[in-house]
Amino acid sequence: MNTTADIIDSESSIDKDFQLFSDMTQLEHEQIVFCSRPEVGLKAIIAIHDTTLGPALGGTRMWNYTNEQQAIRDVLRLSRGMSYKSAISGLNLGGGKAVIIGDAQKQKSESLFRAFGRFVDGLGGRYITAEDVGMTEQDMEWIYSETKYVTGIPKHMGGSGNPSPVTAYGVYMGMKASAKRAYGSDSLKGKRIGIQGAGSVASHLAQYVSKEGAEIFITDIFEEKAKKVAKETGAKLVKPDDIYTLELDIFSPCALGGVVNDDTINYLKCDIVAGGANNILDEEKKHGRELIERGILYAPDYVINAGGLINVAGELEGYNEKLAMEKTARIYDTVLRIFDVAEQHKIPTIAASNRIAEERMRSVGRVGNIYSSNSHFSQRKGQIYLRDRK
Ligand code: NAD
Repeated sequence: MNTTADIIDSESSIDKDFQLFSDMTQLEHEQIVFCSRPEVGLKAIIAIHDTTLGPALGGTRMWNYTNEQQAIRDVLRLSRGMSYKSAISGLNLGGGKAVIIGDAQKQKSESLFRAFGRFVDGLGGRYITAEDVGMTEQDMEWIYSETKYVTGIPKHMGGSGNPSPVTAYGVYMGMKASAKRAYGSDSLKGKRIGIQGAGSVASHLAQYVSKEGAEIFITDIFEEKAKKVAKETGAKLVKPDDIYTLELDIFSPCALGGVVNDDTINYLKCDIVAGGANNILDEEKKHGRELIERGILYAPDYVINAGGLINVAGELEGYNEKLAMEKTARIYDTVLRIFDVAEQHKIPTIAASNRIAEERMRSVGRVGNIYSSNSHFSQRKGQIYLRDRK
């Protein structure tokens, strides 16, 4: 057995630049929960970024991280992003995220997910989970058998089902708002739209823009997937690298993050970037500015891809599909408002969006300090969310 001195000595092997509490302070996190159950192979981290607006909602990702620090950094970054996404979408939710460290192809088991579910349950509703990269419907069902704090569950279990079609609808509305700003009309008829990726979001997005008479170009690293979308929508097939160099009106990244970067930005020949992928700009500040210099209007990714979150959030109040679509349609107005703020303050659209989200968190946070026994949020006396507090 290790003595305390052994354990303290072994700290010398830890990366000296890695300071968990300073990272938490810098990114303004409330809480990080480390979950360990070696007998079922569970190593998970739950990060709760901010609960000013309500319980922290965000998906669980299963990923084979190279090391634990990478997993921590990922969960901190992703959970913070969720706070901003909820805030800008007008939801009464905070931001959280979880990562399970492991190989999604080899290390899954019922006991692993049920153990994870118990840790989620232990947070008493401060964190509500959902499906993310590396997770399947079956995995979520296992988590759900241990905790009610799960959203995005299948329709046959009373949930809202696959969020991708709603995400695509929000991206479409964000794209139309961008067209309105760039061209004076939100019609996409005849617009040349390049869609990167032919997955769940992209395939539904292609349907929407094809119905409006857009000229679509589609690509995927799996050509079969792109071919299928091309057949269904009349899109033209292009090779993965060619999507960056095409003459387009709108470039819509719907595959990966970081695709607007130092290498690709000089090739872009489009008026608008509006896509469903998360973290489209490799470096928010730098590439946000560089898009402005090139006369390209950027619709902030986390604003226009929030339809999926809006959809799963509906489960907390009793799911209503029509209402979820109506709330998602409001992305159109939110995007126009962001463009106004960006223009007024001469800042990139992503910075404008961050500013509006932060302002909502700050101002609604102040409301929580006013005592009201009848308030919907009366259980929240203070800014840290506690479910069922009486
Ligand atoms: P998906 O896995 O169904 O589709 C992604 C597609 O991109 C795949 O077909 C993949 O082969 C393709 N791809 C990967 N790398 C590529 C490359 N370099 N060039 C071309 N194609 C490539 O995923 P999805 O659910 O459609 O999500 C797409 C993006 O939207 C992701 O970034 C995701 O994080 C984001 N997003 C999705 C949702 C949702 O509701 N599904 C919500 C918010 C954000």
